Amino acid sequence: MLLPVVVGGTFVVLTALERRRPLRRVREEKWRHVSRNIVFAGAAAATVNLLERPVVEPLAQMVQRRRYGLLYVCRLPPALHLVLSVVLLDYTLFVWHVLTHRVPWLWRFHLVHHVDRDLDASTALRFHAGELALSIPWRAMQIAAIGVPPDALRIWQNLVLLAILFHHSNVELPIGFERFVARFIVTPRLHGIHHSIVPEETNSNWSSGLTVWDYLHGTLRLDVPQQAITIGVPAYPTSADVTLANSLGLPFAAQRPWRVFPGGGEPEAHRQGPAVSELVP
Ligand SMILES: [Zn+2]
Repeated sequence: MLLPVVVGGTFVVLTALERRRPLRRVREEKWRHVSRNIVFAGAAAATVNLLERPVVEPLAQMVQRRRYGLLYVCRLPPALHLVLSVVLLDYTLFVWHVLTHRVPWLWRFHLVHHVDRDLDASTALRFHAGELALSIPWRAMQIAAIGVPPDALRIWQNLVLLAILFHHSNVELPIGFERFVARFIVTPRLHGIHHSIVPEETNSNWSSGLTVWDYLHGTLRLDVPQQAITIGVPAYPTSADVTLANSLGLPFAAQRPWRVFPGGGEPEAHRQGPAVSELVP
C-alpha cells in the first residue's frame, strides 16, 4: 500500500515544482494536458494489473523455484543476484525502448507517448494500453533469460515508475546538480532531448534508468539546449493531434511519415540559438 502513496506523492511534488521552476516552455493548457494523461494512466494501470501481473509474478516465482536464467547459472550470492537482476532489467528495457521506435507496429503505439506536445511528469503515465500489453512477452523473456526472482522484479518495477516520473518532469534542476546526476541516471534535460521533434535527437538518450547504456552504445546526447527543443513528433504538431480520442485511435489509423511536418519538410537540428547546452560543462 506504500507504493501508491510514494508514487502519488512524487507525482504531486513534481507537478507543483513544474509550476514553480519550469524547464521548457509549455504549449498546452496544463490541467487539460494532465487530466488527459491521467486517463491514460488509468487504462495503463488496468492493463498492468489485469494482464501483466498475472503473467510476470508467477513466472518470477517459477524462475526462482527452478533456478532458470543466466544469473542462476552463475550461482551468485543473493544480494549480487538481486542487484544484477535490476541492472540487467534496466538494460533490456533500453533494448525494448529502441525496438518500440524501430519496429513499425510497436512504433504505432509508442508514438502515442511521443506525440504529447509538452513533456512533464504526466507524460510518464501516457502510454497506450496496447503498448503495455505488447510489452508483456518481452517482460516475460527478460525475467526468464536473466533469472529474475520476485523481489528483484518488484524493486525494479518500483524504481522504473519513480525514474520515469522524474526524467519526464518539466522541472529545472540546479544545473551543477543535474550535470553530476546525469552521469549516472537519466535526468529531465537528458530525456527532453529524446522527446525533441528533431529526428536525430529523438534517436538518442534511450536509457530509462542508468545513463551507462547510452554511453556504451554511443547514443548519449548532451549538446541540445532545452530552450531550443520543441517537444513532440513532426507529423502530429497540433493540439487536435493529441486529444484523447485521436491518441487512442492513433495506432489503428493510417500512419503519416513521422519525421516530416504535414506540409512537408523535416525540423532542423538546433545548431544555433541560445549557445550551447547547459548539460555540457
Ligand atoms: Zn521513446
